[in-house]
Amino acid sequence: MSNELIKVKYILVIIKLETKSLMEKAVKFHGHSCPGVTIGVLVSKYILEHDNDFSIDEELVAVVENDNCSVDALQALLGTTYGKGNLIHLDYGKNNFTFYNRDNKKAVKLSLKNLSFGDRNLPREERIQKLLNTNPEDIFNIEEVKFDPPQFAQIHESILCENCGDPTMSTRIKEFKGKKLCIPCYEKLK
Ligand SMILES: [Zn+2]
Ligand SMILES: [Zn+2]
Repeated sequence: MSNELIKVKYILVIIKLETKSLMEKAVKFHGHSCPGVTIGVLVSKYILEHDNDFSIDEELVAVVENDNCSVDALQALLGTTYGKGNLIHLDYGKNNFTFYNRDNKKAVKLSLKNLSFGDRNLPREERIQKLLNTNPEDIFNIEEVKFDPPQFAQIHESILCENCGDPTMSTRIKEFKGKKLCIPCYEKLK
């Protein structure tokens, strides 16, 4: 085998190992292995390979257009999490993922192509393996997009709901007949 060929093979092995270890980390967080989480692993792999690091604070913002298994891979591998406020969910039912990097101010959108993962005739494990062996570029349309970054997550004071007494974030309090109410109490009493 020529040196070049050995080098190429070596690089391929490294790439595969990386995807595998990302997958392991995502599955540990998510709980089970599935095609959905695999898609999230491929999204994360692309993002990590293109000038982004795991987001310790809110450097990276993810906007996801679904609430399926894929999102857990993003939370585990990219640090774009619900709790930190740098994971924004749009309920569109699409496998589209947009990322904004606050440091270089660039945004990129990955949209899943209309391919055959839906091929439910294949056993689940085979679908997962098939996905793991693809490059993100093969299954996503990838484009730079314009993006209006959201404000950093803010901490608001809490107010006591005058009906149930729960401390409630002030921006979620509703007024009804002169009373300050939390949303469930407002929905019940209005
Ligand atoms: Zn799953
Ligand atoms: Zn209440």
